[in-house]
Amino acid sequence: MSTLLGVDDTDSRERGMCTTYVGSTIRRRLEEAGVSVAEIRLIRCNPAVEYKTRGNAAVALATAGPPETVREIASEAVEELAETADPRTHPGIVVAPHGTEAVPDPVATIAMRVPREHCTIGEATEIGTAAGYELETWGTGRGVIGALGAVGSFAVIEEPTYEAIAYRERERWGTPRDVNVESVFDVADAHYPTIWDTVDRVEGEAVCVPNTPGPVLYGIRGDDPDAVQAAARDIDSEPIADLTCFVTNQGTDAHLVSAPADELDDGHSYRTDLVVADSPATREGGHVFVPVRSPDDTAATIDQIAAFEPTKRFRHRVRDLHPGDRITACGEVSQGTLKLEKVALRDAVTTRERPPVCPDCNRRMESAGAGQGYRCRDCDIQAAKPAQEPLERELEQGWYEVPPVARRHIAKPLVRGGFDAPVHPER
Ligand code: ZN
Repeated sequence: MSTLLGVDDTDSRERGMCTTYVGSTIRRRLEEAGVSVAEIRLIRCNPAVEYKTRGNAAVALATAGPPETVREIASEAVEELAETADPRTHPGIVVAPHGTEAVPDPVATIAMRVPREHCTIGEATEIGTAAGYELETWGTGRGVIGALGAVGSFAVIEEPTYEAIAYRERERWGTPRDVNVESVFDVADAHYPTIWDTVDRVEGEAVCVPNTPGPVLYGIRGDDPDAVQAAARDIDSEPIADLTCFVTNQGTDAHLVSAPADELDDGHSYRTDLVVADSPATREGGHVFVPVRSPDDTAATIDQIAAFEPTKRFRHRVRDLHPGDRITACGEVSQGTLKLEKVALRDAVTTRERPPVCPDCNRRMESAGAGQGYRCRDCDIQAAKPAQEPLERELEQGWYEVPPVARRHIAKPLVRGGFDAPVHPER
């Protein structure tokens, strides 16, 4: 007997409970009840969803137990652990009476959509019910969407990543975490690039250690399940209550949809080709904005791309974009602005126009007025056209990304490879 279980929306912003911990607890209790768990998954949903819970994560378990037992244990754990008292937390569980190989197409389809689109409670309920699943919900039941997507993920994630999450002893929750940061950096160096986004070397920050309340001590992400667990065990810290290795869609860009510049909608994340239309401008708060246009004659549905202050040194790269550059931008679209997660410089502008130098006195000529060319007042010499001078810039062809401190869970780090141009990874 095989049963898949999906659980979502048990997080709380204020009280710090997290869905991964609920999933990890359910796994332990299933195993204590004699039900083996072959795999536990951590699935990040659409990061652009407005009402998202803290990490916007759902979990799924592949179990070898009967549906009734799985449901009973899951339901009890959600009742006990989920912040059902938080008015913004609306848990849902989905119990599918089949194994990982038997996910029906409509469930696989919603699993593809969950990281990218806005699915409704109604359609998730309909698809889950039609598949013969048992659904249980609390509050509005919004959690049923992510829970169903997590169940469907067994059919859709071809190249998963892994995260080993170390949980704190219960009596320490809410107290400062005791983690030796030096050991985190040592572990990060020893296992990079098999593990990634463990630290931010430039900011000097251990990004794998959260600073919100709650049960997570740290989480080690990477491409190999053995490596993330070995790295997690090598960190010097307070005692660990439990270490769970999740199969995840983190670091996969599962949220990005490739689309042309005239088809970008609010609340979705895209990979899209653009042309820089004007010079980057740094505005109040240190945010960098770059006007863009469509690379063909269509009207782009966004007018700028942005690198916000938390993206730190990535902003220096973005400031080095130049009008005329052909680029590919990745990120979430909101109100006409694409919030950059990554950008690739494709065809770089290599020259810029400047007033010509006067052949007699060797000084820079002046504009003679709009459309009037240039002239040197001293020598009374005129020139019709500007000079084309080489543009000195640090930006090279290829992909640039936000640093680990600013990375979204689901965004693919450049060091993972598989990109269509040279990469300039941040580490
Ligand atoms: Zn002159």
